[in-house]
Amino acid sequence: MDRDTTITAITGLAEQLCDPHHHVERVRYWDKNRNEKHREWRTTQPGLLQQLHDAAVEPVQATADTGPRPTPGSRPPLALEALSTHAAICTHVHHWCWSLNLNPRNTVEGNLRALIGATGQLDDDDLTLLAVELRTWHRWASVATGWTAPLFAPHVPCPACHTTGQLRVNLTAQAAHCRACQATWASDDGSIYHLGAYIQAHTSRKAAA
Ligand SMILES: [Zn+2]
Repeated sequence: MDRDTTITAITGLAEQLCDPHHHVERVRYWDKNRNEKHREWRTTQPGLLQQLHDAAVEPVQATADTGPRPTPGSRPPLALEALSTHAAICTHVHHWCWSLNLNPRNTVEGNLRALIGATGQLDDDDLTLLAVELRTWHRWASVATGWTAPLFAPHVPCPACHTTGQLRVNLTAQAAHCRACQATWASDDGSIYHLGAYIQAHTSRKAAA
């Protein structure tokens, strides 16, 4: 990847982490003559970091009247996971800002925006490293913000570190994260599909045994 492409990728990931975005969903309904109609349902979603923070602080959100209801019993541990993921990203972002002598801002979003503003100072190796890290943070946040979809926690060993029971798979976001070794999988590089095949093979082998 050339420098400009890398900076564009970094900026896009940071925007999704920091900035609210608009979501349009087509909702089906029937009019009084029983004709099927559609209307557009527009919502504004906070950035992924804000969603992560909200998930940790207010774990039960009954705002959506669509989608499967989360299992109440699984909420508190998942809220703690969201909290620790948010804290981990804050720490990493802060460390980058500190290494570039950027003045700390009040929020992780502020620090991340300052960091994006400073990408011009980075040499090619550091820029590549930042791109890799941003993709990792984005995946961590994507996995942990799956509040409207149930988070899948298969009882299989992680293919990277072999710890059992620490994989978290967000089927809606198509992202996965190992809580033990912090490895990530996503659809952008196809790794989530390999993980899916791995989990499937593992589960069917266990069922056959
Ligand atoms: Zn692992």
